[in-house]
Amino acid sequence: KVLVRLNRYLSMCGVASRRKADELIKAGRVKVNGIVVREFGYRVDPEKDTVEVDGKVVKPKGFVYIILNKPCCYLTQLGSSKDSKKTIEELLKDVPVRVYPAGRLDYNAEGLLLLTNDGELANRVLHPRYKLPKVYHALVRGKVHPNTLKRMLEGAQLEDGFAKPDSVRIIRYEEDNTLLEIVFHEGRKHIVKRFLAHFGHKVLRLKRVAIGPIKLGKLPPGKWRYLNKEEVAKLK
Ligand code: URA
Repeated sequence: KVLVRLNRYLSMCGVASRRKADELIKAGRVKVNGIVVREFGYRVDPEKDTVEVDGKVVKPKGFVYIILNKPCCYLTQLGSSKDSKKTIEELLKDVPVRVYPAGRLDYNAEGLLLLTNDGELANRVLHPRYKLPKVYHALVRGKVHPNTLKRMLEGAQLEDGFAKPDSVRIIRYEEDNTLLEIVFHEGRKHIVKRFLAHFGHKVLRLKRVAIGPIKLGKLPPGKWRYLNKEEVAKLK
């Protein structure tokens, strides 16, 4: 459960800046569940507690959209896992409301995850019809031959149907391996790994660097940030 400091909660509700919120709290104008609270750091549960300012109930504004740079070896799920693997939940501790991943990354894959409590937007992002290209960097074993690239672009029959990337290119060779950029606008399970394995190239590392207009950029592994207004607008 995510608890939020009272002053932060008030700023999430658009009541005041964090500093102004402190003043409101100090002045005794803020109640939690009907009781005046004068501690800035008092922790509220945004889903259960009722917060009032000057007798008026305040609620956090709108939806929350964030991106996380998932490191390798975290499960894309909330809550704990049965086999005690780490989950992204522990990276999202300081997100003030509950958000859900729009799309997954494999346990050993890294990079961009979009999370939101806006279910409708999440569905649109996930739907292949909406055609949000997802850009992956895949380090694969072996040197990918330019002819293989050409065949990749024509698509391949996988065990659960045909798959065709929007684009594939070689970023560089790394000793005996190849770093590829591959773009899919669908999200079948393990699609990148299965597709590349079909051409004889095992994926050694996989990182998603973009989902449509949203780029991972320089967000460090394990960190999250809010999308800005422009980014949210581009998703809608
Ligand atoms: N394709 C994969 O194989 N794995 C992912 O995590 C995402 C796409």
